[in-house]
Amino acid sequence: MSIKKKSVFTIHLGCSKNQVDAECILSELLASGFTISEESASAHYIIINTCGFIEPAKEESIDIVLSQIKEKKKSQKIIVTGCLSERYKTELPKEMPGVDYWLGTYKPGELLHLLGFSENHICETVPTNRINFGSFAHHAYLKIAEGCNRRCAFCAIPNIRGKQASRSIEELVLEAQNLESQGVQELTLVAQDTTYFGREKGKKGGTLQSLLEALLKNTTIPWIRTLYWYPDFIDDALLDLIAKEPRLCKYIDMPIQHASDRQLKLMARHYSQKTLYSLLNKIKEKIPDVSLRTTVLVGFPGETHEDFEELMTLIQTIPFNHLGGFIFSPEEDTPAEKITAERVNESEARLRLDSITEYQEDLCLERNEGLIGKTIRIIIDEVAEESEFHFYGRTEGSALDTDDIVKVIEGDAQVGHFYNAQVVDATPHELICKIL
Ligand code: SF4
Repeated sequence: MSIKKKSVFTIHLGCSKNQVDAECILSELLASGFTISEESASAHYIIINTCGFIEPAKEESIDIVLSQIKEKKKSQKIIVTGCLSERYKTELPKEMPGVDYWLGTYKPGELLHLLGFSENHICETVPTNRINFGSFAHHAYLKIAEGCNRRCAFCAIPNIRGKQASRSIEELVLEAQNLESQGVQELTLVAQDTTYFGREKGKKGGTLQSLLEALLKNTTIPWIRTLYWYPDFIDDALLDLIAKEPRLCKYIDMPIQHASDRQLKLMARHYSQKTLYSLLNKIKEKIPDVSLRTTVLVGFPGETHEDFEELMTLIQTIPFNHLGGFIFSPEEDTPAEKITAERVNESEARLRLDSITEYQEDLCLERNEGLIGKTIRIIIDEVAEESEFHFYGRTEGSALDTDDIVKVIEGDAQVGHFYNAQVVDATPHELICKIL
C-alpha cells in the first residue's frame, strides 16, 4: 500500500529536550519522503509537540491544540505529541475528538507506524542522523538521556518521562559528528539530570566526564556546554576537565531550588545547605571564570521567612551569573500534593521572588558594567532586528534561549562565527559591543 508523502507543519512547545524529540519526529518524516510546510494552512499533517510540565505550559498547549482544531480543513490531520499527551493520554482523546492522532513522548518510528509505514521501513537512522531544526544552524541540543530517577516533591517529570535512560556514548558521538557535519559550532548537552548520566547503568554506562572526553576526542565542535546539573556526582575530575579544556564552556547550570535544609528536605532534594556552599565554592575555585546559572523555587509549603532568608543569604554570598526564580504551584500526582505543611500565600511568595529578582538585577548590571572596555569572545547568533544594532550573539557564559545576549553596534561579522569584541555599554542582561 503506497503512502502519499505529504507536507508537515510542526508547532514545538516546551523545553530543549522536547525540541530534540520534535526534531527526531521531523527527521523520520523527511527521511520517509514527507516535506516541510512553512505554514499550517497549507500542510496536510499538523504536529503539535506539547509541554505538560506545569499549569501555564499545559494551558498554552491546550489552547494551541484547540485553535488548530478550529482552523482545521477537511483534508488536514492533527497529530498531538509530547508531555501533555503523555501525561493525560486517557483523558485528552475523549475531550478533544478533533485530534486525529495522539502520541506520547517521542518513541522512534511510532508516528511512521501510525501512518501505516511497515516495521522494516522504520528508519534506524534517527536520532543519530537527526536534522538540526533548531533556531540557529550553528547551535544544536544533544539529548543525552531520557527520564529522571530523582523524585523531587514538586516535579511531575518522572511521571511523564519515566526512569532515567541514558543513551550510549557511541550513539551520542555519532549524533554529535552528524550535527557537526551540518555546521554546528555549539553543542548543548541536555537531560533532566545530566550529572547522573550513565550512572543508572553502573560502570558500563559511562559518566558525564567520559561522555565529554569522547565528544572532545571525536569532534572539533568549538563550544560544548552542559545544562541541568544536579548537585551530586560532581567530582574534582569533572571540574578539572572543564577547567582545562578550552572547548568545554566555562558554564555550569545547576538548579539548587532552595538553600534551607528544612525546605530541601520537604522538596526531597538530597543535599544540604552545607553541601551547596562547599560545592559552589569548589566550582568557583576550580573554574575561576565560570558562569553559574541556577533556578530557585520560593513559596513551597512550609517555607518560613527564616528559610527564605537562608536562600537569600546563599544567593548574596555566592553570586550567580544567571538566576531563574519561580513560585511553587502544586502539580497533581506529585509528592508535594500530599505535603500538609502550611501553604505560603501567593502575595507573600511573590514578595519573596521579587526581592530575589531585584537583588539579581542589580548584581547583573554591576557585573556587566564592570566589563565595559574589556575584550570578550563572542559567537554571532543572528542579524539584529533593531536598526541600531548589526548582530546579536552571546559569550561562552550565556546559554542560548535562557541567558544574556550581546548586541553588536559596530563591525562586520558572519552568523555562526566567533569574534573578539570590545564591550562599550551594558544593561543587566545585554552587553553592547563592537567587533575588533
Ligand atoms: S531532578 Fe527533580 S526537578 Fe529535575 S527532572 Fe528530576 S525530579 Fe524533576
